[in-house]
Amino acid sequence: MKNLKVSLSIFADGREFKFDDIVSGGLSRIDGEYNLKLTKNKYLEFSFCRNDGKEMDVERYIMNVSFPLQSISQVIIPECGRDYTEFFFPLYLWRMKFYQSIAFNGHHFMSLLDANRRPYFSFGIIGKYREAKYTCVSPGASKKNNTLIGSNILTMEIERPYEGFKWGKTKEIKEMFFTDESSPTWFHALRKYTQEQKKWLNIPDKTEPVNPLAYEPVWCTWTAYFSSLSDQKLIDNAVVAKKLGINSILIDDGWYGPGLDQESGNNMGDFYPDKTKFSDFNKTIKTIQAMGSKVILWVAPHGISPLSEKFSKYEHLFKKVGGANYLLNKSFHAMCPCNKEAREYVVNETVRLLKVHGVDGLKIDLYNSYGKENCDSTAHEHDCGSLIEGLHIMMKAIWQAMKAYKPDVILELKQNYGNVLASQYGSMVRAGDTPFDIDLDLWRCFYIQSYAAVTHNDYLAWTPYEKPENLAIMMIKLITGGVPTFSSPLPGLPKSHLEVIKSWMSFYKDYLWLLKEKREPQVGDMSVWQIKAAKAHLYSLIFTTQILEIELHKNIVIMNGTKNEEIFIKTKKAFTANVSFYNHKCVLVNKKKIKINNGTAVSIPQGGYAVLCTGK
Ligand SMILES: [Zn+2]
Repeated sequence: MKNLKVSLSIFADGREFKFDDIVSGGLSRIDGEYNLKLTKNKYLEFSFCRNDGKEMDVERYIMNVSFPLQSISQVIIPECGRDYTEFFFPLYLWRMKFYQSIAFNGHHFMSLLDANRRPYFSFGIIGKYREAKYTCVSPGASKKNNTLIGSNILTMEIERPYEGFKWGKTKEIKEMFFTDESSPTWFHALRKYTQEQKKWLNIPDKTEPVNPLAYEPVWCTWTAYFSSLSDQKLIDNAVVAKKLGINSILIDDGWYGPGLDQESGNNMGDFYPDKTKFSDFNKTIKTIQAMGSKVILWVAPHGISPLSEKFSKYEHLFKKVGGANYLLNKSFHAMCPCNKEAREYVVNETVRLLKVHGVDGLKIDLYNSYGKENCDSTAHEHDCGSLIEGLHIMMKAIWQAMKAYKPDVILELKQNYGNVLASQYGSMVRAGDTPFDIDLDLWRCFYIQSYAAVTHNDYLAWTPYEKPENLAIMMIKLITGGVPTFSSPLPGLPKSHLEVIKSWMSFYKDYLWLLKEKREPQVGDMSVWQIKAAKAHLYSLIFTTQILEIELHKNIVIMNGTKNEEIFIKTKKAFTANVSFYNHKCVLVNKKKIKINNGTAVSIPQGGYAVLCTGK
């Protein structure tokens, strides 16, 4: 980036150490007894220490990243991929603050896209996971905060950690400033960033072998029934799910009594089956398992409601802010992850649920409700100064304990905390909640696909009024996003819906070997996705696109997840293919030999697909 300026202020041992323009210098900077070492390989590595090697007491560092404003069409903010779509327009960036906290535990990655949705500059911090604040200092706002002040420089201020937290005692601060200007899309830049971050944190790029159960499509109770659960509802849905090829049943919040959707209060913390909902909870679980399906149970093991019987026993371990017990989601307290006793309670609670109910796995939820403030409780001790770090220690301990009890256990993590580091502490990462909003679900999945071993969609919610062709388009979008998941009541669905889901579930299972391979967008607007494996190439068209660039291969599959029937093929070389066309129920409707030149239009049914055999 031309005219990029990066300055660094380090607050340590009661002093401020200021270093201007660290990107163009490339030399070590000595400030008396202290030393900033800059190493420029692929990216700029910076390390700060005392010359005598003694420990420093570090408050924080502030990095300023400035460069001339150029036309920006889209911004990828430093986040976890859950709410980043809300800040796509640069106007929403000016004067904004973005927190990397336990509640928004994402990635220190930012990207600016040109009019063609090509990232012209991506940057971020590679280092350990710490609280951080990203502020857009310029362009900024007037003191009244209602008018924008013009500026031709974009300046982001990165504060690590932000107020309320402290870096702590250390012999060295060592991190890397990541920059990228060559990736074709922000997705590729983010994948590059997360791969570097994995290397830095010694995380194997493949945390394999992946549990094959992670690829199993899921039906979840949440959007279908909220807390209104019963033995019969679970069994009836499991029966239909099984017929459709959905072999995993997720019993969500509310199984233990009033859940989070109960405004009058909930039973969080007392995770025991609600006898008014279930006559024999374990028997119901066994009945579903006897069908050959898996059962996953929801829990937020760190949560304790003010109404819980455990409140008084564990109150000393709750996160406090301003001396008061912090209320998450305005409805429950939470165990402080920086305390060993609290973490042990949470780990034991998860293993207890596996043992007592014989479930195949857990969905662990609601770490994203912790709030961004530090814990100021004096009732318990802290063994780490960062809530993010504490959470990661807790997540690792939970995963290890669960696997020690049941090696093939399933653990669903969610966006926010299922980041590049923590995604290894579970089987899969699911997109944040997007009921009745399949396109937002897709955008959230795209982000996760850049780093996680297995991405789950948020559970698809739809109504019996949906046109079967539209449901098929949703199915293609689910398969494009990751592993399909569902949460509408299955009994009573129109026959046409059952046919669409069943046929697309068969497609998913037939092509799972290919869908396990890494996917990538073909274009910057994310409307075409591709998986290129040795045996076949798979393309998925979504949103409004009508153009697909094909690389010649002997087996090509094209899914049409759009409302367009005509797809224009871009190809460097003309070719002839035997093409089989399938409709939205995956039924073969046409077969013909076609000569495809650059620009040839091919008609693929909406919500259907085509298989091209080229013999090449
Ligand atoms: Zn605490």
